[in-house]
Amino acid sequence: MFSHLQPTPIDPILGLMAAYKEDPNPQKVDLGVGVYKDENGHTAVLKCVKEAEALRLKLEDSKTYIGMAGDLSFNSHIEKLAFGPAHQVLLAGRVVTAHTPGGTGALRVAAEFIKKANPDATVWVTNPTWANHVSLFQAAGLKVKEYSYYDWETKGLKFDAMMAELATVPAGDVVLVHACCHNPSGMDLNFAQWQQFAELAKEKGFTPLVDMAYQGFGLGLDEDTQGLRYLADLVPELLLCSSCSKNFGLYRERIGAVSVITADSKTADIARSVLLAVVRSIYSMPPAHGAILVSHILNSAELTALWHQELAEMRNRINNYRQLIIDKFKEQGIAQDFSFITRQHGMFSFLGINKEQIEQLRKDYSIYMVGSSRVSIAGLNHSNIDYFAKAMAEVLKG
Ligand code: PMP
Repeated sequence: MFSHLQPTPIDPILGLMAAYKEDPNPQKVDLGVGVYKDENGHTAVLKCVKEAEALRLKLEDSKTYIGMAGDLSFNSHIEKLAFGPAHQVLLAGRVVTAHTPGGTGALRVAAEFIKKANPDATVWVTNPTWANHVSLFQAAGLKVKEYSYYDWETKGLKFDAMMAELATVPAGDVVLVHACCHNPSGMDLNFAQWQQFAELAKEKGFTPLVDMAYQGFGLGLDEDTQGLRYLADLVPELLLCSSCSKNFGLYRERIGAVSVITADSKTADIARSVLLAVVRSIYSMPPAHGAILVSHILNSAELTALWHQELAEMRNRINNYRQLIIDKFKEQGIAQDFSFITRQHGMFSFLGINKEQIEQLRKDYSIYMVGSSRVSIAGLNHSNIDYFAKAMAEVLKG
């Protein structure tokens, strides 16, 4: 039967990574992959993680199963990071959390959970969105539709169009929003826009799903949750998918969490049983390592302080480069307005250049970015920023 299989195209970002690896040009620049890199172009293990690993090695006395919800201490920490320690949804026992294999695992569990709650649900995603969102929900048998979000003309948001389209979404459907650091555009809702979105969700009765893959990479750990917390104040039901890949640098350990927020604690108990049944039927139980590391860090005031510091370093480096790109472009005589780069948040920016220019950057300069002109800012450093700016100046001349 395997002979009937048809080849499946790989994710273009993975293809780009492979092409970059094979490129012999010593000046090559990787702006494709969404992974934080330091000034040396390296994705180092955070110091707080190294210390937590040493602690785990010392303290761990069993490798027995951890249960379908995963590490309970981790789950409790992740809820407090997201909502703050005293949010009403936590005090009222309205949140159920399971730790999952990465943010991707959280989204897939959320998708199966939605399917159980309403098999006919449509999941509405931003146009554009992280490409895997569409595949993940479709794989669970859910319909996916897009709503207007990014405006290529103004390099801002199509907020009015977004609100008009979402006003037609019925109760029983799910609307996915990015908590912060929108992937791929870098353009986030401001707080006033979050408030309007929350009012609309309450009025129309659709269920928001907040995807939070970059908490702490935008404005700060608490600042990045402002919209989420307001939403949770207003609407009775909500889904949250978190990831520790970026903010703890735990990419390959696959650690994230899915949280279901229900109208009351009785429904939360039922939701827990459904959530755990979903987990049981996909992978039974999540891997423990990443969750235990995060728990160790957040259980220790000292390691938490170190994590805050390391997270701020990553965030500040990216934000400094947003300004530096603009300065370097000016230095190279680029006349176009790129000031929008400093209005975006997180790892990514859309440069807004065309396919031919993206291709020329790759062919003539070995500078790799995604076909939409999305660049991962953390791929830039002091050794390649001038080269990048010069190449951009050449390419923009046409
Ligand atoms: N959501 C978004 C918007 C993302 O960008 C990513 C990572 N690229 C994820 C979820 C999944 O992250 P993880 O690596 O933890 O599965």
